[in-house]
Amino acid sequence: MSRSGEFCPRCGDEIPEAADERPDLGGAGGGRNTERVLCDACYFEEFDLVDAPDTVQVRVCSRCGAVHKGNRWVDIGAEDYTDIAVEQVSEALGVHVDAQSVAWQVAPEQVDQNNIRMHAEFSGVIRGTPVTEQVTVPVRISRQTCKRCGKIAGGSFASIVQVRADERAPTDEERERAEEIAREYVAAREETGDRNAFVTEVKEVDDGLNMKISTNQMGLGIAKRITAQLGGSYSDSRRLITEDEDGQELYRMTYAVRLPRYRQGEIIDPEDGDGPVLVRSVQGNLKGVRLATGADYEASFEAGDAPDAERLGFREDAVPTTLVAVEDENAVQVLDPETFESVTVPRPDYLDVDADEVPVLKSQAGLHVLPDDGSDADDDG
Ligand SMILES: [Zn+2]
Ligand SMILES: [Zn+2]
Repeated sequence: MSRSGEFCPRCGDEIPEAADERPDLGGAGGGRNTERVLCDACYFEEFDLVDAPDTVQVRVCSRCGAVHKGNRWVDIGAEDYTDIAVEQVSEALGVHVDAQSVAWQVAPEQVDQNNIRMHAEFSGVIRGTPVTEQVTVPVRISRQTCKRCGKIAGGSFASIVQVRADERAPTDEERERAEEIAREYVAAREETGDRNAFVTEVKEVDDGLNMKISTNQMGLGIAKRITAQLGGSYSDSRRLITEDEDGQELYRMTYAVRLPRYRQGEIIDPEDGDGPVLVRSVQGNLKGVRLATGADYEASFEAGDAPDAERLGFREDAVPTTLVAVEDENAVQVLDPETFESVTVPRPDYLDVDADEVPVLKSQAGLHVLPDDGSDADDDG
């Protein structure tokens, strides 16, 4: 055996020549030169293939299930946090830089709902010698409240969307739809990973609905979508508020949605001499159909969606009654649904003369035949 003339600084044994060449690991670990002069026996005595933390904590939000990664909360949509635990343990484990041909596997053992024992097995080659090491890292699932859920719970919001209607209160259907629109819009934003999208509160008030929204931008988006779908218009106003936490001045926006005065399916009398109108559309100018003739009606540009008119009722107030006879092209006889007397009423062109029954509405403007539900009265899309 040749002599190297080098001695182990720890045990004082002379280091064989061959051993000195073996740990030539391609120049890796320049700072480890002092370790490399230890004899194999001393080296392996000190050697740890794996550097493992004593414990790993996985922070999850108990309200929404988000996971804390790096320095932020992330929605992962997982029910089971085992994969997250495996991922975070793997990131926390370190392998000795001198090791070559490293292979490893991790097996989770669920202890209870909040505790997982992560069994990791590593193998590698060091100084030409195969080495294996097993470590077990306890993982604790720590249930907390994420920033967003904390804000929601704390009632934080930046804008208010008020839903009102012109000269009336919004219907239950309109209120429900407006809330749905807000929730769908926020959900779509959340889908993109935006954690600042939330509805803090939806409150019914006498004349409509108030919704507290997390940001101004989303409040505006919701107001736009509500008017696009339900008609009407919105206006905005801003109020200066001061946030205590950072002392910064912030504006809180209010988006006031005003739904149209009349709604689709309402019967109104513009009192222009041509009789009542069934409202078909309130997007832009109000459009409808005359009940006496079936002719189209459209409000003037100036009147927009709110022409001066008398409210007579709604399509759902109509009742079916017997079509007794067709008198001529302008008149038919139907049974008055209240008196059951045969009366002559105008014949609109949508009336099906072969029908046994037709829907009629009795109002202060008289008795009128309405289009059938699902007929061309719904064609405004
Ligand atoms: Zn030694
Ligand atoms: Zn949360």
